[in-house]
Parts: sequence; structure tokens; C-alpha cells
Amino acid sequence: MYEIVKHIDFCFGHRLIDYQGKCNQPHGHNGRVEIRLASDTLDDMGMVADFRDVRHSIQAWIDEHLDHRMILRRDDPLVEAIEALGQHAYLIDNNPTTENLARLVFEQTQALGFPVIAVTLWETPDSYATYAPEPVSHGVNGRNATEQAVTRT
Ligand SMILES: [Zn+2]
Repeated sequence: MYEIVKHIDFCFGHRLIDYQGKCNQPHGHNGRVEIRLASDTLDDMGMVADFRDVRHSIQAWIDEHLDHRMILRRDDPLVEAIEALGQHAYLIDNNPTTENLARLVFEQTQALGFPVIAVTLWETPDSYATYAPEPVSHGVNGRNATEQAVTRT
């Protein structure tokens, strides 16, 4: 099995609905996604995927849709206020937790045709969540991706 990892940094805002704690206030993060691609075989160039293609597609999607955006649950009353200002939030069906945002990037990466096995979203330098449909045997950080704890920030 070959594996490559791409990090993409972006800034985003969010807040959690129906949550008791300071994360129900709008706030922002300097986030980092770690995208893990894997394949049993390599292409004609000897690659799992070209980092340039990852940058041109996944990073472009993040830049266009998530970077410097508020990411909100679709029924958040804040959506109306942001739209009234002529700005656009990125809306999702679930609470925009780190876990759900990791899954969002995973599904988008998959939809773009990359052999993604896991996506980790770092919300802060010491808090992150991973989404992987299958248990990942080893994490980049030497811990099982399914056992990592998340601290709300
Ligand atoms: Zn947060």
C-alpha cells in the first residue's frame, strides 16, 4: 500500500447550534486539513496522485467554498443575517463540528476522484478530528485515527 498526505491550510468560522458552551458563539479557526490518499498500485508516473492535481482540485474547492467563510448548519438563524449583508455562508445539514467538516472534505475529495482513505481536520494545533469510513491502521501521528479525542475550542 502506498500512501501520500497533503496538508491544506484555510481559515473558517463556525458555531455549534444546541450546544452548551462557548462554541455556540460565532468564532474562527486557522484550520488545517490532512488528506490521506492511498493505493495498492502506482500510476504510470509512479504516483498515488500528483500533488499538483490535489492542489488544483481539492485545494481549489476549499479555497472557493470554505476559506474565509462561516460554515453553518442550514437552519442557523445567523444565515439570514449574513445573507442580508450580501455575504454567503457555507451551509451544511449537520452541526459544523470538526468531525462533520472532516467528513465534508472527505466526501468532496472522493467526489473529485481521489483515492482518499481519511481526512483529518485540525481546528487548533492540539485539537483535531478524523473521518475515515474504514478503520485506519496507523495514523500519520502514530495513533489510531479512530481513537483520537477532540477538544472543543
Ligand atoms: Zn470552533
